[in-house]
Amino acid sequence: MLNYDLHCHSTVSDGLLSPTDLVARAAGRDVEVLALTDHDDVMGLDEARQAALQRGMQFINGVEISVTWRSHTLHIIGLQIDPQYEPLKQGLRSIRTGRGTRAKLMADSLAKSGIPGVLEGAYRYASNPDIIGRTHFARFLVESGRCKDVRSVFKNYLVKGKPGYVSHQWATLPDAINWIRGSGGVAVLAHPGRYTSGRKPMGAKTLRELLREFSDLGGQGIEVVCGSHTPEQYAEFARYAKEFDLLASCGSDFHGPGESYRDLGHLPDFPLDCRPVWQAWEQQ
Ligand code: AMP
Ligand code: MN
Ligand code: MN
Ligand code: MN
Repeated sequence: MLNYDLHCHSTVSDGLLSPTDLVARAAGRDVEVLALTDHDDVMGLDEARQAALQRGMQFINGVEISVTWRSHTLHIIGLQIDPQYEPLKQGLRSIRTGRGTRAKLMADSLAKSGIPGVLEGAYRYASNPDIIGRTHFARFLVESGRCKDVRSVFKNYLVKGKPGYVSHQWATLPDAINWIRGSGGVAVLAHPGRYTSGRKPMGAKTLRELLREFSDLGGQGIEVVCGSHTPEQYAEFARYAKEFDLLASCGSDFHGPGESYRDLGHLPDFPLDCRPVWQAWEQQ
């Protein structure tokens, strides 16, 4: 089996490496098929594809779309998308516009709790200002000495109930799936083990309702192996994949050296019985 990594981020969203440097690192770590999946933007794909071509690596066009479903923020990954597909381009553009507004509100909320000047600080970390987001805020709060690392920022700020959190309306689930499918791509539910209801993990009943709706709308895949899942969760989501007849995906969700759960590549194999998501395009 080839060495696949189908989820990672560059400086086009909240990663630390440029698309070229990301591909170089992936190559150095034996990745043979890479998808770049920046949040809500496809601007890095051309550069990454060029770099991958030079290294004889197979490259997959990807994106990770921010979605609001009920009270939850979900991430839907599109693989093998056509970045030129107009409805996808327009949809992503509208999400990006919302990020600017949200960033101002986040900074206002932090200022009210005694932390001024964060908006300018966060933008200094956003190589692509259109994708300003919580990670850039977090990096600035670390730099300014508020927290020791990005993870502890997320524990104390920027999440529900903490200063700097602003609820936000992202894309709808049907829109995100239609943009991906309409462009020829495969829609994959990212890191299902990360979704929560309040402080607790999303319950099995809600998750089943989500997967039913996702599948009815044309969603085809679920991340089984990913950077933020435990081995028990690989098994758990492999069972959901089977129950809902979904393809299994794998990706590190790498953001940068020293900052992520996992580095690029070297992902563990799927549990038995999984149908890998690449079947969707290899059998075409
Ligand atoms: P945003 O799209 O602006 O809401 O930012 C979401 C991003 O924040 C995710 O893609 C992660 O990169 C990062 N993130 C969310 N929760 C955490 C966490 N607990 N620790 C570290 N990074 C996180
Ligand atoms: Mn991210
Ligand atoms: Mn995500
Ligand atoms: Mn991600």
